Amino acid sequence: MHTLLLNAAEPGAIEEAARIIRNGGLVGMPTETVYGLAANALDAKAVAKIFEAKGRPQDNPLIVHISAFEQIRRLVKSVPESAEKLAKAYWPGPMTMVLEKSDLIPDIVSAGLPTVGIRFPSHPVAQALITAAGVPIAAPSANRSGLPSTTTAEHVMRDMDGRIDAVLDGGTCGVGVESTIVTLASDPPRLLRPGGITLEQLQAVLGRVDVDKAVLNPLPKDAKPLSPGMKYKHYSPKANIIIIQSDEKTFADFVNSHKAPGVAVLCYTGEEKLVDVPAVCYGGETDYEAQARDLFEALRHLDDIGAKTVYARCPEPKGVGLAVYNRLMRAAGFEVLKLA
Ligand code: AMP
Ligand code: MG
Repeated sequence: MHTLLLNAAEPGAIEEAARIIRNGGLVGMPTETVYGLAANALDAKAVAKIFEAKGRPQDNPLIVHISAFEQIRRLVKSVPESAEKLAKAYWPGPMTMVLEKSDLIPDIVSAGLPTVGIRFPSHPVAQALITAAGVPIAAPSANRSGLPSTTTAEHVMRDMDGRIDAVLDGGTCGVGVESTIVTLASDPPRLLRPGGITLEQLQAVLGRVDVDKAVLNPLPKDAKPLSPGMKYKHYSPKANIIIIQSDEKTFADFVNSHKAPGVAVLCYTGEEKLVDVPAVCYGGETDYEAQARDLFEALRHLDDIGAKTVYARCPEPKGVGLAVYNRLMRAAGFEVLKLA
């Protein structure tokens, strides 16, 4: 299959992508979080192609994207007041709500679960594509399953060229990590995946919000998590990542005494001057937004420079730092070295 590269800024590009979606095809779609792999959410055959193109396990459900709040009503059984309040505060934006699904949602979208994740993205190109297609759009991250999510059209092309109909280039994603997922199908509501909307922001609207165990911890082998995606090894570059918990100086001393071919670091901006090995930076030490934005690109870049062992700095699990911590811990397979 030839994969078309469409520039969203060119006339007719969004309409062309919308036509592909309506005809049951797949399009790489920019959003404010990461690129999504988009198909008509109401067409089970089209959605099956997403799983095929990504090599995604069949039990990992997809998020359904809408371009106006009212579109949620026919996709779920009912819209509780908590959903209305959350939408008012954070939609359009990087937050997914899980609710009981309606019969309109094919089982393949929800991977057989009785619930469905819904998101109203803020990216103007995503909104325009959903509106032009005239259908809700199912879209997981547009990467080969297991690899880091994609934040540029070029990265989507690298993973998906020849496997999907088109990529719609809308520039680099601003948030850089996938959406926050909160389930309203549990009481109290529960954070299933941290993202650009923080736990504190959810609590400001909902009051009590529990944090699912899978957010901070590795899952036992036979676990059945509420958010099935959490059980898969995720976001992983080819390199072996080891998180170093220490201050800046101890980190630099450790790395410099472990200098060897294939050793590199993932560090905060400015720290590259302190280390004697190849360094990829991903934002300042407390600039969690910049870390989130740059993380996946940095992970892919480490592979590009041939890194085999990567010593990484990882932020505190608070604010948007929680989302960065969650992704980086999974990329590292929870391998952490604590240094005094
Ligand atoms: P991705 O878009 O690739 O980040 O994948 C979407 C993630 O959302 C998956 O890993 C799922 O675990 C999660 N998800 C989607 N729908 C549901 C749902 N109905 N209940 C719980 N988690 C969900
Ligand atoms: Mg994904």
